[in-house]
Amino acid sequence: MLDARSSRPDFEFERSESGVRYYCRNMPAILTRGLNARVWDESGHEYIDFLSACGALNYGHNHPILKSRIMSYLASDGILTSLDLHTAAKRAFLKAFREAILTPHGLDYRIQFTGPTGTNAVEAALKLARKVTGRRTVAAFTNAFHGMTLGSMSVSGKRNDAAPEPVLPDGVTRLPYEGYLGAGIAELDRYAAMVEDPSGGEERPAAIILEAVQGEGGLNVASPGWLRHVARLAARLGALLIVDDIQAGCGRTGSFFSFEKAGIRPDIVCLSKSLSGTGLPLSVLLIAPQHDKWQPGEHNGTFRGNNLAFVSAAAALEMWKDEEFLSGVRASSRRVWDWLTATSERYGPNHIRPKGVGLMSGLEFTNHGLTQRVCRECYRRKVLIETSGAHDEVVKIMPPLTIEPDVLDEGLDRLDDAIASALRQSPDLGKRFAA
Ligand SMILES: *Cc1c(COP(=O)(O)O)cnc(C)c1O
Repeated sequence: MLDARSSRPDFEFERSESGVRYYCRNMPAILTRGLNARVWDESGHEYIDFLSACGALNYGHNHPILKSRIMSYLASDGILTSLDLHTAAKRAFLKAFREAILTPHGLDYRIQFTGPTGTNAVEAALKLARKVTGRRTVAAFTNAFHGMTLGSMSVSGKRNDAAPEPVLPDGVTRLPYEGYLGAGIAELDRYAAMVEDPSGGEERPAAIILEAVQGEGGLNVASPGWLRHVARLAARLGALLIVDDIQAGCGRTGSFFSFEKAGIRPDIVCLSKSLSGTGLPLSVLLIAPQHDKWQPGEHNGTFRGNNLAFVSAAAALEMWKDEEFLSGVRASSRRVWDWLTATSERYGPNHIRPKGVGLMSGLEFTNHGLTQRVCRECYRRKVLIETSGAHDEVVKIMPPLTIEPDVLDEGLDRLDDAIASALRQSPDLGKRFAA
């Protein structure tokens, strides 16, 4: 019995790995290689990657330029980890970020290297905002996702009923995101009035934290006007505006930052996921210079000097000056949106509709039960894909920004088939979207 089980290729995961593992449960392939939007498992099967490690692989797997920079850095015995000691690789990253991103956008930010994961950047942002303002409360939005450590979970929307109070809800004010039950600017103004009324019962917030496009929360896109209103409101209340651009940043929405169209200048921006360009962990805060109030060592951490990530990040940032790369991203985005629109029209926009923006997009189903089935059918057709949203109501399409047009078309064709097959098994498209 044991022998039969132990000869299964995934036995070691079941035997040894914690039950907390997640994505691998629906996609159990044992992966070995990746090249741009394609990955291979150990049996040689080829998959199309519409997951891109939740947006940590915007430049695909093993981008040739990034890979060659990493290989030559390793070959030269380059420093790999360095706390925050000066290294030539870190200097090159800082310079590349200033020259390729900040200067062309007319932005001036100090860069703080936080711990390596996204949630480390969010924690640092919350801590800094409280320090700068001397206030306690943070305003955060419905359906937000900011990470899995205590502070980040507290400002996230999702509550895991199974866990015994995993968050610190004290000190968080929840506001409805744009479009939440029709919410708009009026709800923000009501909140501001309550804060400004000495007996309104709301503390002055240290910060307002938001995603300009909610990645895990269902690909909800805030309009430029609403974002500008939030920015004005934060300024009026003396709160810092924190934009969590961990998933929507680094080009996912079509521009490097997700908030560019709104023309706002957040006080703090969190970047992570695709910043290194290769999936190597690297997170930063961009801090408006007047708010850089840290004392030396006040927010320390061992892994703030991932030099291999600095090397690939600097090379990845160069691509934002490359017209061929930029027009490729625009073309892929148009292809995806043509497909989304056509698919929604085919099944009826009252039942299936496009969500998101740029290459951070997908299809929302009124019949929430269909999305898991669509993802399962995709996996059978060798497409890696996931859902998003409070009810997993959105099938989320996140290919690398660099995906080849024919691979993208092939992936969308398979997704087409997967939807048709899911509907054959369960033809009910569900109730209609509210008007
Ligand atoms: C993924 C994500 C985080 C958390 O990043 P981790 O590296 O998983 O800690 C925070 N905010 C947003 C918007 C994210 O998508």
